[in-house]
Amino acid sequence: MRKIAMKTPLVEMDGDEMTRILWKYIKDELLLPFIDLKTEYYDLGLQYRNETNDQVTIDSANATKKYGVAVKCATITPNAARMTEYNLKEMWKSPNGTIRAMLDGTVFRTPIVVKGIEPCVKNWEKPITLARHAYGDVYKNTEIIVPGEGTAELVFRAKDGTVISETIHEFNGPGIIQGIHNTKKSIESFARACFNYALDTKQDLWFATKDTISKKYDHTFKDVMQDIFDNEYKAKFDETGIVYFYTLIDDAVARVMKAKGGFIWACKNYDGDVMSDMVSSAFGSLAMMTSVLVSPNGDYEYEAAHGTVQRHYYKHLAGEETSTNSVATIFAWTGALRKRGELDGLKDLQSFADKLEKATLETIEEGKMTKDLALITSLENVQVLNSLGFIQAIRQKLEESL
Ligand code: NAP
Ligand code: MG
Repeated sequence: MRKIAMKTPLVEMDGDEMTRILWKYIKDELLLPFIDLKTEYYDLGLQYRNETNDQVTIDSANATKKYGVAVKCATITPNAARMTEYNLKEMWKSPNGTIRAMLDGTVFRTPIVVKGIEPCVKNWEKPITLARHAYGDVYKNTEIIVPGEGTAELVFRAKDGTVISETIHEFNGPGIIQGIHNTKKSIESFARACFNYALDTKQDLWFATKDTISKKYDHTFKDVMQDIFDNEYKAKFDETGIVYFYTLIDDAVARVMKAKGGFIWACKNYDGDVMSDMVSSAFGSLAMMTSVLVSPNGDYEYEAAHGTVQRHYYKHLAGEETSTNSVATIFAWTGALRKRGELDGLKDLQSFADKLEKATLETIEEGKMTKDLALITSLENVQVLNSLGFIQAIRQKLEESL
């Protein structure tokens, strides 16, 4: 069989622990036999990040800006325990944080829906994609514990000397104060990333804040989104047949619970933190959730939403059998390959990505799955496969379809 050709390389970001093992299995079993795979390889495994003083992470983000599409394996974010385990020179920052900051991107998370793994919310027929604004608000706050009686003020001193101030509260006794901020630039990037992704995936976009209560702060989010929509995207949305829909956050939550799915839910930072865990756990499993970082310039970085599955890795190292779910990592590859195919006009590559996804879902629907899914499936007579066995079962299905 002739292998599928590629034009532009994918930026390949290798990672850590169990997902690094899966990464190799996926390439060996599901990609290399079928595609003349072109990648520019960056080893984001913690050991090499440490050796290069984390320069490799920066280089991989720059390569993503150059080529436009990356696929990333899960990576360790170092903490005190990892400092000793890997004998680190420094507690290197989260690669995802570094890459996100360099690409100025928004993360979209989508559950992979498959028969046999039913969402807890019965009317959710299609995936709900969550887009979380990842800058500012309570995540960059300044707080004061008010010891007693006194006046709290909000003060802004402009560069030209102008002062704007407001009284927050006249305290009669102890209390608390919190100062939060956001920037117009960050909200605008978020808006464009959301509108582009909606067009890209041909799904409606929902956005919600509490603008009735927060008449300046949240209202600015609402206004910025609406302005950018009206001026830059309305015509394209009409053409594509999708809508942008704004409502209050409490109304959005109520509507989401009654909806069928199949849309993108854009959230402010805190709402996104809370709602993404609600949506992902209600859809079944973190191992069935994909994640893509989209920059306002239209660069894409695909990955799985879960971590490096450390507990399984230690079992693997001890020579024990593991049954680690590779679905989200496979879908990171298919997402990246499909996008590369779209950008380079390679129909074969796009169709391969579709077939690999289909083979993966059909394998599960036939009752062949990893242990995590076997525990929650509604299917009967399931066959629990080990990490490699599951990937090989997918390969068999894939070969039948090619
Ligand atoms: P994790 O790797 O997501 O795993 C937590 C638990 O969830 C696992 O122990 C396992 O449960 C289950 N699980 C997650 N993915 C699974 C899969 N594919 N198949 C089967 N079960 C799966 O989170 P963590 O243990 O908190 O973090 C480990 C490392 O990952 C940390 O160093 C963290 O910094 C890093 N991390 C990286 C990313 C990223 O790169 N995007 C994201 C999150 C965390 P059982 O043990 O019950 O089987
Ligand atoms: Mg959270």
